Amino acid sequence: MTNFLAQPEWDKALAAVSDCTSVLLLAHVTPDADALGSALGLGLALQSLGKKVQVTVGEENFVVPSSLSFLPGVELIHSPEALTSADLVISCDVSSDARLGTTLELLQAAKVSIAIDHHSSFTGFGTIHLVDPGAAATAELVLEFIDRLEVALTPEIAGAIYAGLTTDTGSFKFQSTTSHTLRTAARLVDAGIDNSKLSRLLFDDEPLAALVMMGEAVSRAKLLPEAANGAGLVYASVTREQRNGLPELAAERVIEALRRTSEAEVAAVFKQADDGHWNGSLRSKSSVDVGAVAMALGGGGHKYAAGFSSTLDLSATIDLLIEKLAITA
Ligand code: MN
Repeated sequence: MTNFLAQPEWDKALAAVSDCTSVLLLAHVTPDADALGSALGLGLALQSLGKKVQVTVGEENFVVPSSLSFLPGVELIHSPEALTSADLVISCDVSSDARLGTTLELLQAAKVSIAIDHHSSFTGFGTIHLVDPGAAATAELVLEFIDRLEVALTPEIAGAIYAGLTTDTGSFKFQSTTSHTLRTAARLVDAGIDNSKLSRLLFDDEPLAALVMMGEAVSRAKLLPEAANGAGLVYASVTREQRNGLPELAAERVIEALRRTSEAEVAAVFKQADDGHWNGSLRSKSSVDVGAVAMALGGGGHKYAAGFSSTLDLSATIDLLIEKLAITA
């Protein structure tokens, strides 16, 4: 149980649910397992209460990436163009309105909207805020919401929640993992999830082409031991061409390989999007707050995991990161 959130905010959220007949749940653009798992787990719970539920992501003609298509409740997902109106809008794991993409207008038009999030960089949209930067995952807050709604856990709801919790904690390895997180995981296992299968699908299941791309990206990595005031930076980049026809999402896990580098406190991966701009992923281990660095670059995230976008060219983007690391780190 988290203590950061005040009781009145939970009461407002519970009243909003009991007052509505239809709900639209929003995950952030380029959704991860926490964003989508949170929306789907809550969606399934609300459906069991008799609500009409739709889940979407603010990307034109959104389809679920194949890497997350096994999540329970995916049948609730519609592309934003295919939505019907809903009287309550709930965003999951969305830290800023830019991350709402094309669904920003839907949230702004809603009389009542709930933002459920755990980013310290949450910018404050929506009328009810279930926001706790101390939570290991948005999924952890969603589970508390489901408990307060007095919905019993099914294996499907538990599976969607577990996907968010285990992904955002790096398989329960990151600093955000508390005894409460582990007890929550045990409870989800008790609810009937297949932990081993879910973990394999989430972490250990990729097309060979994606592994080759990752290997090539790691082989291009550069180490700057003097960066971040001597704490060290390791970085790599993946251009559109270097993705060999794979979607940008396939480059997400390059950072998981680079962050293991012993000689660097900070790891960065620059991934070129289809429209040419660069998305930077940042990870740190213990002494550097990459969330603050990302915010200085117009992005956001958490202390040890964050991201930002850049429309500059690659070398200017890297130079800017090095400069911010020297000031902020
Ligand atoms: Mn999250």
